[in-house]
Amino acid sequence: MPLREIARDAILSWTPLAPLQAMVKRDVVGVNYHLVSAEPSPLVSPLFSFKTPAQFESDLHFLKSHYSMVGYADTAAQILGGRSILPSRAALLTFDDGFAECHTTVRPLLLKHKIPAVFFVITDALNNRFLPYRNRVALCLDRLRRATDDEFGGFASELKALAPQARSSREAAEKWVRSLTNRDTAVLDAIFRLLNIDPQAFLTVRKPFLSTDQILELVRDGFTIGAHSVTHTDFSLLDEPAIEREIVESCAVVCALTGASHAPFAFPFNGNSLKRLFLADVRKRNPHVGLYFDNCGFPLDHEWVVGRMTCDLPGGCSAGHSNLGRWLKRAYARGLVSQITRKQRP
Ligand SMILES: [Zn+2]
Repeated sequence: MPLREIARDAILSWTPLAPLQAMVKRDVVGVNYHLVSAEPSPLVSPLFSFKTPAQFESDLHFLKSHYSMVGYADTAAQILGGRSILPSRAALLTFDDGFAECHTTVRPLLLKHKIPAVFFVITDALNNRFLPYRNRVALCLDRLRRATDDEFGGFASELKALAPQARSSREAAEKWVRSLTNRDTAVLDAIFRLLNIDPQAFLTVRKPFLSTDQILELVRDGFTIGAHSVTHTDFSLLDEPAIEREIVESCAVVCALTGASHAPFAFPFNGNSLKRLFLADVRKRNPHVGLYFDNCGFPLDHEWVVGRMTCDLPGGCSAGHSNLGRWLKRAYARGLVSQITRKQRP
């Protein structure tokens, strides 16, 4: 970690949360997760962190004692409808990617603690019809890590046409697989064949994503379903018409499924590359697109882009001890810097 970040974290560790909440005024702050699971997932664990149910429940206790937990309807009523109804220190809990654990693991804990939430789903992955490319990469990495030396030797010898530089070691092969993007679909398919992975069979057997039945049950519980794009492509690699299609079509699918008049949209990965004027225009022409949700802390932004902090990293978190304070303070620190420099997104 760079020295500047070490110094920042040292200062923040001695700073209480309350003054940061008071200085960085936002209608609402977002607290975001992807996976809460008792077991590692081959679609997530090789690339990303996750929290266990006990760690997550510690976070819920932390949130209840430091924030007023609000739902999407009140958030939209204030930001889009101009009604002043949100309490001070409002926070909104969200989950990206639409893993089945949102229903099996997260839902019972949220019902127990009476906490509202938004679940952002990748619409092509609903009912396990499609595996987004980042999860394809994770699945390949998981299989590579579990391969015996003989299996890896066979895989490496087949790599000469695809990536000669990746043949030298497991580390080199993993680094290459990790670098693949959504433009490398054919390469990923070739790796699947070499590693004897059938992604469709994996989806059919493991059912890692939410089904429409599970989603409708979440809606009946009072939770909000949002859109997280059609295919979870990296938006920085797409042109604006393609980005607009991903936003507009996924929100339309969610509205048709849930009966909502508009659906919130969470950017895949983050919205750093997205011009706010373009996003405003998309919303203006498509009233079924609700509030946007970003993933980069709480920087100064338009009020219709809700800042969120991703809190999946479990370091220092255990049953009975949340680590949320550390991540949220970092998000406020970024917000404070952007407030002082008046650096708002174009
Ligand atoms: Zn995502």
